Amino acid sequence: MTTFYLGVPPAWLHRSEFAGIPMFVSNRPLSRLRRLSRALGPVAVDSGGFSELSEHGSWDHGPTPRRYAAQVARYRDDIGIRWAAPQDWMCEPWIVAKTGLSVVEHQRRTIGSYLDLKGIDATLPIAPVIQGWQIADYERHIAMYEQAGVDLRAQPIVGIGSVCRRQGTREAAELVTRIADHGIALHGFGFKIDGLREVGDRFASADSMAWAYAGRRERAGCDYRSPGSRGPHKNEANCPRYALAWRRKALAALATPRARQLTFDALALDALRTLTPAQQAAKAAELRALTATTAEETDRA
Ligand SMILES: [Zn+2]
Repeated sequence: MTTFYLGVPPAWLHRSEFAGIPMFVSNRPLSRLRRLSRALGPVAVDSGGFSELSEHGSWDHGPTPRRYAAQVARYRDDIGIRWAAPQDWMCEPWIVAKTGLSVVEHQRRTIGSYLDLKGIDATLPIAPVIQGWQIADYERHIAMYEQAGVDLRAQPIVGIGSVCRRQGTREAAELVTRIADHGIALHGFGFKIDGLREVGDRFASADSMAWAYAGRRERAGCDYRSPGSRGPHKNEANCPRYALAWRRKALAALATPRARQLTFDALALDALRTLTPAQQAAKAAELRALTATTAEETDRA
């Protein structure tokens, strides 16, 4: 994997501490931002299809293709995004049940959105997305793209949809491997670190917002204040510092899976700077103990 996009709220695109960090944002909140400025790092945009289809069972409540094309054009010009997803139709069985359509119809409509958007403006940086549920579905979707005149191997990036909610399963790993073997540069949507550790080397890129879910369960460990708030935040679900610390740990874990615990803890030292002296001393002792245990285990191995 060459690019790991951190899923963030769109307001963070313009924060200086995120300069140079690849970021992934969803069109729903992004389209509500009045002012956009040049991104300080690579940015990719999700269309918000999962929200549309799981809430409404259709794209009828989302932007029309023309409206979405105009939004993407604005992101291309003002933010300088690398790519945006089409208004795709994911194929999880409960989503297909919600729309009342078939997997193959979802696949047709996903290609239809790609072609519509490119037809409106051929210069839009829309990444095609392969959808399906069974491996054979995905293989068929690749053939459908071919029949529509779209060579997925020639695309800089191609999303692979409907995988994130079953990541970590053998089925998902096999699927990603089989599709990557077609020579397609794949983007994995919404992956967690464990899922990436398994198949991350088959992706050209992936995105993750897993930090926000982890942060929800974590009491605030720093004194970050959201702009305009009176006190420090209550948990880490919306904390830029936490997100950045999580990203460093994630990258380290992906780079060196065997030594991951040690690296995680060494990187956690970064977070110490935000604690009180008493908290720092306690944390440092905890880390020393952990590091010693891990070193012992390594010696024995
Ligand atoms: Zn925080």
